[in-house]
Amino acid sequence: MEFIDLRSDTVTQPTPEMRAAMASAQVGDDVFEDDPTVNRLQEMAAAMLGKEAALFVASGTMGNLLALLTHCQRGDETIVGDQSHIYLNEAGGMSALGGIHPHPVRNQADGTLALEDIRAAIQMEDVHHTITRLVCIENTQNICGGVPLTVDYTRQVGELAHANGLSLHVDGARLFNAAVAQNVSAQELVAPADSVMFCLSKGLAAPVGSMLVGTAKFIKRARHLRKMVGGGMRQVGVLAAAGIVSLESMIERLDEDHARAKRLAEGLSQVKGIVIDKGSPHTNMVYFDLAQDAPLNAEQIMNKLKERGILVGPESYTRFRLVTHCWIDDAGVERTVQAFADALR
Ligand SMILES: *Cc1c(COP(=O)(O)O)cnc(C)c1O
Repeated sequence: MEFIDLRSDTVTQPTPEMRAAMASAQVGDDVFEDDPTVNRLQEMAAAMLGKEAALFVASGTMGNLLALLTHCQRGDETIVGDQSHIYLNEAGGMSALGGIHPHPVRNQADGTLALEDIRAAIQMEDVHHTITRLVCIENTQNICGGVPLTVDYTRQVGELAHANGLSLHVDGARLFNAAVAQNVSAQELVAPADSVMFCLSKGLAAPVGSMLVGTAKFIKRARHLRKMVGGGMRQVGVLAAAGIVSLESMIERLDEDHARAKRLAEGLSQVKGIVIDKGSPHTNMVYFDLAQDAPLNAEQIMNKLKERGILVGPESYTRFRLVTHCWIDDAGVERTVQAFADALR
């Protein structure tokens, strides 16, 4: 059965164009920096974000980990959102593998960290304190609703960080969703950042991989650490070839995913028992709650939808996140709205 899979944009399969590019990719040993396809992807990613260099990594989690390990020494501290992927969903890698101390700051509803909260979290020099080295922000901010952070906000965080001798890392797993939704270039969005991670494997539909981007010096160190964590892959141009197709042809179409998320939210808002989050969707994620008098809980609805070939991921017994991507078409949106309406009737 063909599923309509709205659990995440990580479920996207490589496009036919990607499979063809992968099959015919020129490859070499990437640990020797000899893979021409990887080298081309890295040059493209660096140029697109206006930075000196880039590194192809196995996953977004690996990219963020390498950034943290490069910016921070053991015992150093990094400021992170309390609803951020780095803090909640990366298996505690920074502490377990890097001895890095996370300092969580409350994420505001709009996905930002308040500037005064960041300022207050920066440790004064004192024998009792850890040394604050880094601020991490997430764009789009997933848990806060897939909400994009603005150019202006990112500039202010960059200024605050740099004025205090800190670096700024952007977890841009969905950076291009943020850029397309705001009609700005990704380069502008990350201009103040010292390092950026973005995923090829989510809305951009590549099967595997993320990019870490920064200065040449930063990437040189990150490359060393990538080898240390076992991420030195060999003829990995077969994967990078799909990433090149992502950057060439999958970015501008993200608008379609955002438009379908809007239609999905509009349709679901007409279904009794569904309460869409205020302002949702911002990009490709629709977040909503079940009303208190809804006849079924989220798990029961999930099972009913599954019988009809629709996969959804409940966030709790009363809350859903539905994610649109390039494998969801207009008919999939209509069928999903109808299935929710039938389930909640
Ligand atoms: C998915 C995601 C990551 C990590 O990417 P993986 O490739 O799944 O390791 C990091 N940050 C955010 C915000 C994400 O959504």
